[in-house]
Amino acid sequence: MPEGDAVYRTAARLREALDGRVLTRTDFRVPRHATADLSGRTVITTASYGKHLLTRIEGGLTVHTHLRMDGSWRIMELGRRLPPGDQVRLVLATAEHQAVGLKLGMVDLVRDERQIIGHLGPDLLGEGWDAAEAVSRLRARPERSIGEALLDQRNLSGIGTIYRAETLFLRGVWPWRKVGEIENLDSLVSLAQRLLDANKVHAGTVTTGDRRPGNQTWVYGRAGRPCRRCGTRISRGEMGAQPQERLILWCGNCQPR
Ligand SMILES: [Zn+2]
Repeated sequence: MPEGDAVYRTAARLREALDGRVLTRTDFRVPRHATADLSGRTVITTASYGKHLLTRIEGGLTVHTHLRMDGSWRIMELGRRLPPGDQVRLVLATAEHQAVGLKLGMVDLVRDERQIIGHLGPDLLGEGWDAAEAVSRLRARPERSIGEALLDQRNLSGIGTIYRAETLFLRGVWPWRKVGEIENLDSLVSLAQRLLDANKVHAGTVTTGDRRPGNQTWVYGRAGRPCRRCGTRISRGEMGAQPQERLILWCGNCQPR
C-alpha cells in the first residue's frame, strides 16, 4: 500500500506530465463523475497531502485521487492502449501524454479542497509540517494505542503500515502501548517524519540505510525472521477494529510491553 513518500513521488510525476498543459480529453470512469468533462482547461499543478493527491485545474476545480491499497498513476504516450478491464478509473490527456489512474481508491472532483483535507493532521512531507500540532493531536486521546494513533490521518498524514512498524521498532515502543504512556512522543513523530523524508525521492522504503534487497527494513516484511538487533523472531499481528484491522510487525524483545 502506497504511503506518504510514494504519493509524494506520484505527485512529482503528475506535475512533470501535466503542469501548464491543456487537457484535451478527460475520462472519469466513476459513477459519480461519469459525465464530467474538463477538456479545454489547463492543469495548474498537482500537490500531495499525506496520501491524497490534489490535481488543480483552471477554473477553481480540484481532481482528488487516492491510491488506497493498490492504485497508481501511469504516464503513457498518446495512442497507447489502456490497461484492460475495469482497472482504469481516470484519464487526463494532453496533447503530449495521457495520465492514467489505475485502481484508484477515490476519485473526486471538488471546488473546495477543505472537503478533502480539512480534517487531516499535518502532512509529514508538507512544507507546512508542524510536529507540535501532530503531537498535540496524538495527545488528545491518551488512552489510544500508539500503533492505531499513528495510522489515523487526522493526527498526522502520510504514515501507513510500513512506517508505523519501522518507527515503533526504532524507538523500542510496543505497538499497543498507550499514547499517554509515551514520554518522547516528539522524537517518535520526528523520526517518522525523517524516515518518510529520506525516502521521498527514490522508489522503495529503506529504514536501515541499506538499499540492498532484503536489507531495507527492520521489521516490516520480516515476520518470523530474526531481529536484526537481537535475533528474536519478528512477530506479526493485526491492530485496529474489524474490518479496519491492519498489519503490524514488531520484535517482542526490542519492543517490550
Ligand atoms: Zn529485537
